[in-house]
Amino acid sequence: MAKKSVRDVEVKGKRILVRVDFNVPLERGEVKDDTRIRAALPTIRYLLERGARIILISHLGRPKGEVKADLRLDPVGRRLAALLNQPVKKLDQAVGDTVTSAVAALKEGEIILLENIRFEKGEEKNDPALSQQLARLADLYVNDAFGTAHRAHASTAGVAAHIPAVAGLLMIKEIETLSRCIDNPGRPLVVILGGAKVSDKINVIRRFLQLADRLLIGGGMANTFLAARGCSMGDSLVETERIAEARQLMEESKLNRCEIMLPEDLVVTREIKEESPFNIVSGGAVEEGWKAVDLGPETASRYSRAVAEAKMVVWNGPLGVCEVPPFDRGTEIVARAVAQSEAFSVVGGGDIVAALESLGLTDKINFISTGGGATLEFWEGKELPGIAVLQDK
Ligand code: ADP
Ligand code: MG
Repeated sequence: MAKKSVRDVEVKGKRILVRVDFNVPLERGEVKDDTRIRAALPTIRYLLERGARIILISHLGRPKGEVKADLRLDPVGRRLAALLNQPVKKLDQAVGDTVTSAVAALKEGEIILLENIRFEKGEEKNDPALSQQLARLADLYVNDAFGTAHRAHASTAGVAAHIPAVAGLLMIKEIETLSRCIDNPGRPLVVILGGAKVSDKINVIRRFLQLADRLLIGGGMANTFLAARGCSMGDSLVETERIAEARQLMEESKLNRCEIMLPEDLVVTREIKEESPFNIVSGGAVEEGWKAVDLGPETASRYSRAVAEAKMVVWNGPLGVCEVPPFDRGTEIVARAVAQSEAFSVVGGGDIVAALESLGLTDKINFISTGGGATLEFWEGKELPGIAVLQDK
């Protein structure tokens, strides 16, 4: 499923509509974290250096088809201009006459940033009228927004029905690296899955059961697996309606020769709040009134040893309630093991990436996906609409 990229087509002088994921956090009207903007720079620079005329398009937040003043892309445009050290002409609409004339006046090596595309009602509906309006602005469509590739919206998929469509460099990197985890993993492949719920990630769990040598489970979802093993989980987050499925997954793991590892000791607390008193329980027996919120120290070291033996590590989801210290310890210990290991490491998912950022470990990870939901769907083996519409190589 190799896709054509900007490298495979003529871009000089062309008007190119580039879908980027500039859905960044804002604070007091400024960009708080520009990771996603930086991630799009290779494609933008590649096109600029070759004399393309660039029209950037992104969403920000969830304005649901209404104009929301605090979700305008002006701060994003300012940050992009600073990063590129070149002017970025930010428009106040995404389509319409002002856009058409600004695009007509666009010269080689210049950049226009359209307004938040989710101000348009047609965007999330994938309205063909909007797709057509967007397509008329350009000769070529480039999708570099991996983070929204799992959505079939006008600017992520629909537009590709009307003009040639290829992948950006970030998109290619995401596809190649995430595919490598499933098609050609280093072995032993150790997959770490955490986060709140089994139900959010059931298909990813199933997929990696077929692929991984070891599956290390943590976070809230571990509770449901422990319950499936017959452990009493007290007041922990357990998805009762998923227990049978968790039991079935553990059976499947035997057939697939994938070793599922579950916490043997747990950090438990009565109340999930900062610095709240806690206990360590072993054997997975949590009493009434207590909640399991993190891996215990034994489990954290056991998981770290598994990581140290890996050739490839794939990680999604924190291993405890990591936004509430000290229940971030398990995630931190395992994160340090991943950072230290020689294994090729790939991490995807909003909360785990945020945790690695606050630990200052992101540069020790080989690849950090810019997707959350998109990364999970990719690993599940689903076809992502924003990728499917791109030309094959
Ligand atoms: P990601 O964004 O990395 O994919 P998720 O969104 O699936 O991760 O899960 C992150 C959430 O899981 C965090 O808010 C965290 O508090 C929660 N979580 C982790 N462990 C537990 C637990 N033991 N009990 C309740 N919630 C948990
Ligand atoms: Mg999340």
